[in-house]
Amino acid sequence: MAKKEKIRCVFCGRMQENGLRFVESALPGMGICEDCSKEIGRLFASDESTKADEDLSFLDNVKTPKQISDYLDQYVIGQQRAKKILAVAVYNHYKRLRYNNIKKDQNDVELDKSNVILVGPTGTGKTLLARTIARLLDVPFAIADATVLTEAGYVGEDVETVLTRLLQSANYDVKKAERGIVFIDEIDKIARKSDNPSITRDVSGEGVQQALLKLLEGSVINVPPQGGRKHPNQEFIKVDTSNILFIAAGAFDGIERHIGARLNQHVIGYREGEKQEQIDHKNLMQYIQPQDLKKFGLIPELIGRFPVLTYLDKLDKDALRNILTEPKNAITKQYIKMFELDGKRLQFDKDALDYFVDIADKYSLGARGLRGIMEQVMIDLMFNSPDESQMEKIIINKAYAEEALSKQGGLVAMKES
Ligand code: ADP
Repeated sequence: MAKKEKIRCVFCGRMQENGLRFVESALPGMGICEDCSKEIGRLFASDESTKADEDLSFLDNVKTPKQISDYLDQYVIGQQRAKKILAVAVYNHYKRLRYNNIKKDQNDVELDKSNVILVGPTGTGKTLLARTIARLLDVPFAIADATVLTEAGYVGEDVETVLTRLLQSANYDVKKAERGIVFIDEIDKIARKSDNPSITRDVSGEGVQQALLKLLEGSVINVPPQGGRKHPNQEFIKVDTSNILFIAAGAFDGIERHIGARLNQHVIGYREGEKQEQIDHKNLMQYIQPQDLKKFGLIPELIGRFPVLTYLDKLDKDALRNILTEPKNAITKQYIKMFELDGKRLQFDKDALDYFVDIADKYSLGARGLRGIMEQVMIDLMFNSPDESQMEKIIINKAYAEEALSKQGGLVAMKES
């Protein structure tokens, strides 16, 4: 039998060997190799289908909403409603990404972006939720603080710097950054300052909201690679924001007033008794609606670009207590690990943990305060114990914690006999 002739790639000249695949041509011995045919495909593809050639393998690993929520459970205590809503929003976001890449027919249904807005008191896990999701999905993640942003031309940072952080977190891999997650914190602080437009220009409030619209709606943005103010002679990196998921968060202090007023209005003249009974007046946040954000001072255009709205609960004492010990990287687990690295066994008594929670609750320090309290209690031990070779087991009880907090000193940890 005649040996099959090897084919040469008419573009790069390589021969058909080492498993390199070829598209054969009508001319004997000539064809196009796998690499060149891909390159040609890219060259002729429209802008839309060029995107399809990006490395989208990460989409195969996107978890289902249930899996996302289960993962969040390992790190974030409580906040079940927010977890569920976020999990669905993130899942849909990446589903949309995949769909848009395979969508051939221009008349096909367009899937909208599912940017999320999280409302809830400070220190209840808003950043933690977003950060944990980004880790699960292995996508670049950037946190931006809305309070430092101003309208272009005024003292402060341009909104584009939000994307600079994302680029940095993606090591300036633009394609990777373009499917990352941006967390915009303190979005409530750029609320319109008053209902009365423009006595003085509202450059850090409504001005920033207007500027953010461009980022949120999905367009190609010129991003200054090093951040700061944009200036004319600067090189920019073009970033397409269509597939970036934006999660905004804010405490929206006092928004319950607007929620309450709205609910009361509805009640009047409308099956009064029944409805009133159902409203849980102690926790009005659960009834939050986009119109409450508008009353608070966000402009409707901005609200419209965050179709998913959810809230986080204030953390009660039980939640704080769980935060100390339950999450995968709970604070107590971290201290135990740190001591273990020095060859010491650290243990927290139940009464000490309850004491930390009491203090955090009493002074309204929230979850963020727990670490501060524990740091004060642990500082002397962390300073002294590495030199104390005979001290192998250290137990922190309430008495020690109390004393350490009040005196800020003294090694009163109990040694096991
Ligand atoms: P914010 O709501 O202000 O964004 P963070 O997410 O930054 O709050 O929370 C601050 C810290 O408090 C977190 O790093 C975490 O250690 C702890 N924390 C807050 N809420 C929770 C929670 N629900 N579960 C576990 N830890 C939490």
